[in-house]
Amino acid sequence: MQPARVVFCDLDILCIKHTPSQNSFLISINPMDSPNALSTAPAAGSRKNATLICVPIMGESVEKMEIDVDKAKAGGADLVEIRLDSLKTFDPYRDLNAFIQHRSLPLLFTYRPKWEGGMYDGDENKRLDALRLAMELGADYIDIELQVAHEFYDSIRGKTFNKTKVIVSSHNYQLTPSIEDLGNLVARIQATGADIVKIATTALDITDVARMFQIMVHSQVPFIGLVMGDRGLISRILSAKFGGYLTFGTLESGVVSAPGQPTLKDLLYLYNLRQLAPDTKVFGIIGKPVGHSKSPILFNEVFKSIGLNGVYLFLLVDDLANFLRTYSSTDFVGFSVTIPHKETALKCCDEVDPVAKSIGAVNCIVRRPTDGKLIGYNTDYVGAITAIENGLRGKHNGSSTTISPLAGKLFVVIGAGGAGKALAYGAKAKGARVVIANRTYDHARKLAYAIGGDALALADLDNYHPEDGMILANTTSIGMQPKVDETPVSKHALKYYSLVFDAVYTPKITRLLKEAEESGATIVTGLEMFMGQAYGQYENFTGLPAPKELFRKIMENY
Ligand code: NAP
Repeated sequence: MQPARVVFCDLDILCIKHTPSQNSFLISINPMDSPNALSTAPAAGSRKNATLICVPIMGESVEKMEIDVDKAKAGGADLVEIRLDSLKTFDPYRDLNAFIQHRSLPLLFTYRPKWEGGMYDGDENKRLDALRLAMELGADYIDIELQVAHEFYDSIRGKTFNKTKVIVSSHNYQLTPSIEDLGNLVARIQATGADIVKIATTALDITDVARMFQIMVHSQVPFIGLVMGDRGLISRILSAKFGGYLTFGTLESGVVSAPGQPTLKDLLYLYNLRQLAPDTKVFGIIGKPVGHSKSPILFNEVFKSIGLNGVYLFLLVDDLANFLRTYSSTDFVGFSVTIPHKETALKCCDEVDPVAKSIGAVNCIVRRPTDGKLIGYNTDYVGAITAIENGLRGKHNGSSTTISPLAGKLFVVIGAGGAGKALAYGAKAKGARVVIANRTYDHARKLAYAIGGDALALADLDNYHPEDGMILANTTSIGMQPKVDETPVSKHALKYYSLVFDAVYTPKITRLLKEAEESGATIVTGLEMFMGQAYGQYENFTGLPAPKELFRKIMENY
């Protein structure tokens, strides 16, 4: 039998349905929402879920770890996981006592052996003795691996440790098993007598996380379900929506005890984790890569400011169609789309806005609340063209004349992907003469044919200067972090352009823009386009006018 496919839907409250014919599960977390029911978020400061935030503490000395425990408390954590296996030297009685005496937050003691992905390589009896001692000394939690849980429970039978909750854990560093195997694993862990079940698996694809969510919402016991790796990031945030017992957040970025952990700060302030509830709507940016995007910062801050009950995530997606099929619940309401999925997105939508269809690329997908259908839009076009028109007019907001300053201009677009198509289509619609320069000449030729322009190989762009005062728009990722030294065209060619625009916005001033400014051109940053396209996305997501000043204020701080 094939592994069951998990499909989220909102047919019933907390229901699970197995449809054997499709070999799929339908699960729901929420009451059916009325159309456009983006309910307002609870008042700031209140807590809408019981999910705890645990900071893993790793260090070579007890002193260093105690400092980090205090930092975790100051940072807003609920508990800390003391990773005893990270200590260089460990005297169980002395050191456990020190941690417990110093306790400023509830303590979870983990002494992870190498055979389960940890750092401890010593005698197994000594390891289990230390965990038993932690219980005797009053640890709040201990973590014990499933493989030795029965043996451990046998050794403490008859003893009472009123305070300590035992987490029985299982880690899979290769993959996320099928839903049936996960269910069996939960049952095996429960059978040990665990107070809390912990399963950590690895995401090979973002859709693997759906299986963990399904187990989580139906668990009868306190359940920690985390999917490791960049593709599993949403498990760490949406645990709070789907009822996970705890999620991990690190003190510093990159200092992780398992792959893919976000920081405590991001959980609390970027994702607003305390405010996530079962009815929180999920938005996100779909891309590969996606980590460079500023959309999560912008949208989460806007949602928080206006009190919209939503969370906006980074969605590292390999297969767009599979992603949209898997997360098909009306909980997952809106997506921004970036490299390399904009053209595929067009094919994945049930309906596509006519402008997006003409452009041949979708950068915004909205799930229509009335029937769950996916509607595709292109907001890049208006965002970029308005930014360039404003640059030519020398201002930041809106237009006062009906004739575009682009009319009659020679407009060179570098790139023929999603953004390139939007720019080429938009410039043509505004009356410009359009030339496409692209690495793959054939793509340039096809786009030029579609919009009624000319094509050029990117390699020929340096020597292309039929006239002065041209407009140049880079829509490739050349110059984007981390390759900030790259540029798509030589500096000497820039003197023929009166305005240069770069869609890349990390960094804000790319090498191309710096050299264009030095050559005397007006420059327009990708951040202006970013905000313009985000206004459109926001309006599609919410049906409300975008609070433009708020958007600008948020982005000014980044
Ligand atoms: P896409 O659909 O994948 O298109 C990529 C384009 O860049 C293709 O024409 C490709 O040429 C070209 N390209 C990629 N790497 C190249 C390289 N090393 N050398 C030369 N050409 C290269 O991507 P997209 O969605 O259009 O996005 C492109 C860029 O625009 C990204 O950096 C994205 O972040 C940015 N963007 C910014 C905004 C904003 O709001 N500021 C909005 C949208 C996009 P081939 O045809 O030869 O493959």
